[in-house]
Amino acid sequence: MQSQLKIYNTLKGEKELFKPIHNNQVGMYVCGPTVYSDVHLGNCRTFISFDMIYRYLLHLDYKVRYVRNITDAGHLENDADEGEDKISKKARLEALEPMEIVQKYSVGFHDIMDRFNALPPSIEPTATGHIIEQIEIVEALIKKGFAYESNGSVYFDVEKYNETHNYGILSNRKIEDLISGTRDLDGQSEKRNQLDFALWKQASPYHIMRWPSPWSDGFPGWHLECTAMSHKYLGEQFDIHGGGMDLKFPHHECEIAQGHSYNGKPPVNYWLHTNMLTLNGKKMSKSTGNNLLPEELFSGETTLLDKGFDPMVARFFMMQAHYRSELDFSSDALKASEKGFYKLMNGYDDLEKLTGAAESDEDVSALIESFYEAMNDDFNTPVLVARLFEAVTFINKVKDGTAKISSADLDSLKTAMKAFIFDILGLNSIDRGDDSKLGVAMDIILELRKNARENKDWTTSDLIRDKLNEAGITVKDGKEGTSWSLN
Ligand code: AMP
Ligand code: ZN
Repeated sequence: MQSQLKIYNTLKGEKELFKPIHNNQVGMYVCGPTVYSDVHLGNCRTFISFDMIYRYLLHLDYKVRYVRNITDAGHLENDADEGEDKISKKARLEALEPMEIVQKYSVGFHDIMDRFNALPPSIEPTATGHIIEQIEIVEALIKKGFAYESNGSVYFDVEKYNETHNYGILSNRKIEDLISGTRDLDGQSEKRNQLDFALWKQASPYHIMRWPSPWSDGFPGWHLECTAMSHKYLGEQFDIHGGGMDLKFPHHECEIAQGHSYNGKPPVNYWLHTNMLTLNGKKMSKSTGNNLLPEELFSGETTLLDKGFDPMVARFFMMQAHYRSELDFSSDALKASEKGFYKLMNGYDDLEKLTGAAESDEDVSALIESFYEAMNDDFNTPVLVARLFEAVTFINKVKDGTAKISSADLDSLKTAMKAFIFDILGLNSIDRGDDSKLGVAMDIILELRKNARENKDWTTSDLIRDKLNEAGITVKDGKEGTSWSLN
C-alpha cells in the first residue's frame, strides 16, 4: 500500500510517487506558529491538514518523525526583514516578559490543537532553544562565502548563491524579475542587494530579546530557525517539508538557499503547501483582522454565525476540501458540513449494529480499495468523504433490509470505516444526541412542507412554518431552498 502514495511536490509542480530516503522512515517538518497572538481558523486549517497527512503516513505503517517548530523569536513584522520582532513588540506593548507571551500563546495553541483532535508532533522545538545551532550555521555560511557581515548583522548573499544555484526554484521566480521588483534604497541599506535576507540581526537598544554572537548582541533571522531545527532533528536531507502556501516565498525559498549552501545538497525532497482558508473571499490573516478565532466558532459568539459548531464539525468541513484548494468559510457551509458529519457518524453507528449474511450485494473490497485510492491520490480527502458516503448509503440499505452484507465483508468494512473516519480523518464521535435527531426530523418536516408548496397548499405550508416558529425554530425560504435555525 505504501508504494502507491502519490504526493504533489511544489518543487516539481506535479504529483509523484512518494519514496522516502530511508525505506519506511519518514522525516517531516512543518513550520509552526509564531506565538505572539491566538491562532485563527486559517492557521488551524494548515495544521489540521498536516495532521491528516501525518495520520495517513502512520496508517501506511511509516515510522514518522514529525517536527513542528514554535517560532518564539526572529519573525519580524515585515517579511522584508523590517520592523520589530513580533514577540518582542507584543512583550513591550503589554509590559510582559517575552517568554510570558510565548507561554500564553503556545499553551493556547496546544489547547486548540487538542480540541481539533490533532496529534502532537514527535518534536516541537523552539527557535530560542536553538540559538547556538543557528549561530553555527551563520558562521559556516560566512566561511563558505554565502554570507557577509554588515554593521553587526549578517546577511545571506542571494546573488552569490544564484551564481551556482537557483534562487526561485520553489516559487518559480527569476532572480532578475525579483531584483527589478525591489526598491533601490540608494545605499542606505546594510545589505549588498535588496534580495539578501538576514541571518542575524543586531538588536536595537530597546529590543528585549537578544543573545551574544560573534557579530553583535542580536537575534536570528526567521528563515534560519527552520533550517537549524530541521537539520538538527531530520538531517541534511529529509523527506517532507510543509507549510501554508503563503510561506513558499520568501520563507521556504530562503530555507532552500540556506540549507543547500550549508549542506551542499537540496535539503528537502517533497515540498507540500496547503491552500488558504478565506473569509469574505479574502485570506484569513492575523494582521488584517479578517479572521475568525476557533473559540468564536465553538461558542458562536460572533456576528458571522448564528450558532456555535463543534470542533469536529469544523474539522470535517476542512476535510471536505482538498488541502491544495482554497476553502471559503461561511455559516451555511458549516451548517451543511454539520449535517454531513451527523449523517456519516450515524451511518458508522448503524454499521456497528448490523449483522452479516451469507453474501453481499455490493463489492465491499472495491469500496474499501476506493478509500485508499482517494488518499493515495495526494491525500484527496473530499473524494474519500464521497466514498464514505457511498458506504453509508449501502449501510442504510442493509439496515432497512433492501441489501445484504456478508459477515466477512461486514468485518472488513467496520475496520476500514473506523480507520478512515477516526484514525485518518481524525474525527471523533461527539454527542450528537438531540441535535442529530432534530436534524433528521427537520428534514422530514421540510420535505412535507415542500410538497405542500408544490401543490400550492399554502395553508399547510404556512401552518408548518408558524408552528415551528412558535416552538423556537425559524424557517427561512431563500433562492437556494429552505433553511432552518433555532431562534
Ligand atoms: P503564522 O503563525 O502566521 O506563521 O502562520 C502559521 C501557519 O498558518 C503557516 O503555515 C501559514 O502559512 C498558515 N496560514 C496563515 N494564514 C492562513 C490561512 N488563511 N489559511 C490557511 N493557512 C494559513
Ligand atoms: Zn519555517
